[in-house]
Amino acid sequence: MHLYGTQSVNEKGHLVIGGVDSIELVNTYQTPLIVYDIELFRKRARAFKETFQAEGIQAEVAYASKAFSSIAIYEVAKEEGLSLDVVSGGELYTAVQAGFPRERIHFHGNNKSFEELTYAFSEEIGCIVIDNFLEIDLIQQIAYERKQEMNVLIRVTPGVEASTHDYITTGQEDSKFGFDLKNGQTDDAFYQLHNDPYVKVLGMHCHIGSQIFETTAFRYAAEALMEKMIAWREQYDFICPVLNLGGGFGIRYTEEDTPLAPEKYVEEMARVVLSMTREYQYPMPEIWIEPGRSLVGDAGTTLYKVGSMKEVPNTRTYVAVDGGMSDNIRPALYDAEYTAVTANKMTEPQHTIVTLAGKCCESGDKLIEQASIAEPEQGDIIATFCTGAYSYSMASNYNRLPRPAVVFVENGDHQLAIRRETYEDLTRLDVPFQTVKRGDRV
Ligand SMILES: *Cc1c(COP(=O)(O)O)cnc(C)c1O
Repeated sequence: MHLYGTQSVNEKGHLVIGGVDSIELVNTYQTPLIVYDIELFRKRARAFKETFQAEGIQAEVAYASKAFSSIAIYEVAKEEGLSLDVVSGGELYTAVQAGFPRERIHFHGNNKSFEELTYAFSEEIGCIVIDNFLEIDLIQQIAYERKQEMNVLIRVTPGVEASTHDYITTGQEDSKFGFDLKNGQTDDAFYQLHNDPYVKVLGMHCHIGSQIFETTAFRYAAEALMEKMIAWREQYDFICPVLNLGGGFGIRYTEEDTPLAPEKYVEEMARVVLSMTREYQYPMPEIWIEPGRSLVGDAGTTLYKVGSMKEVPNTRTYVAVDGGMSDNIRPALYDAEYTAVTANKMTEPQHTIVTLAGKCCESGDKLIEQASIAEPEQGDIIATFCTGAYSYSMASNYNRLPRPAVVFVENGDHQLAIRRETYEDLTRLDVPFQTVKRGDRV
C-alpha cells in the first residue's frame, strides 16, 4: 500500500494524516469527510518556487484554484506566497473574502461576462488572461469607461496537446480556449491590444493539458511561444515581460501512474526559455506556471463509512459507502481510478477485492471498480487517496445529499475548512409554490 505525504499508521492500526488519527477525525466530524494534508500542500508549493529560485528565474506560481476552491485554502496559498488563478466571478469573490492579495490574482475563462470582468476591474486584480475577441472588446470598453489600466495575457493554443503519456502536435488546435497561435488569430489579438493606452499586454499564456507525465510537450509549447515573442520583437519592437506556461503536472493516483517530480517540469521549461533567450538575446521573461492538481491532489483523502454490502455470486462484492458521485464524480465522469484502504484496519491484510460503490441512485456510481481493502465489515472507515483535486470542487447535491465537511490537518492539529451541509442548507434556495386560487387571477 502506498501512503502519501505525512500519512502513517499508529499503534491502534489507524491511518494517521498530518499527525492526526483519521478515526478521531471521523468521530469529531463524521463522514464523508475530506481531509487535507496541509504540510504536503506547502511542500509542493515550495518545491515549485524553490526550483525557479535555484535557476535564478523570476516566477509566479499560481494555484489553479478550480481544483479546490475555499477561503481556507486561499489563505494557505497566500501564506506560501503563491499567486491565484480564478475562473469565475464566484472564485474571485471567494479570493476577495479570503483577503487574497489582488495583484496576485489572475482571471481565466473562455466566456467571462461583462459583469465578471467589471468585478475584476473593480477589485484591481493583477491580470486578466484574455481568451477571445469578444473579451478584447469588453475589456477595452470597461477600461475606457473606468479610465483604468489592466494587465493582460493573451491565451494561445500552440498546437501541442498533451495527455498523460503522449502529446500531439497539430497545425491548428480544436479547442474552445484561446487564440490559435499558427493561423494568425494570436497576431490579430496582439495587434488590437498592443497600443492600447489602458490595456497592458504582459505576454502570452498556454495550458496544454492535464495529468501530464512527460516534459516534451511543455518544451514544444515553450518553444512555440518564444518564437512568437521573438517575432513580435522584430515586427513591433515589443518585448513580453511574462511567459505563462500553465499547469497540468501529473500526480500518482494508482501504481500505474509514474509522474515526474514537479520540479522536473519546471527545470525543463526553464532550460528551453534560458537557452532561447540566450540564443536570440531576448530579455529573460518572468515564467509563470499554474499547478492545480499537483498542489492539492494527493494532499486530499476522503473518509467514508461502510454500510450495506452485496455479493453477486461468481462476479463481485459491492461495498457501499456513505458518499459517492456526489462528492467525487471523477470515476463516473471519466473513469478516473483511485486506490483505497480500510483506515481502521491498517495493520490487517488489505487483500480483499471489492467494488466500492456510492449511495447515489445511479448504477454507474462506483468509486473504485477493484478496491483492495481489509475484509469489510459494516462501520469500517474507507480512506480513498488522492481526492484533493476536482472532487469537492465538482461536488453536487444529487439525491439531495449534503456535501461533506472538509478539514485541514497539520502537525497534529485539525481545523474545519468547510462545514458539512445540513438539510436546512439543502432547501435554503427553494421557494415554496404559490398556489393561486381560481378566480384570484387578475
Ligand atoms: C485547469 C487549469 C490549470 C490547472 O490544471 P491542473 O491539471 O490541475 O494542474 C491551469 N491553468 C489553466 C488555464 C487551467 O484551466
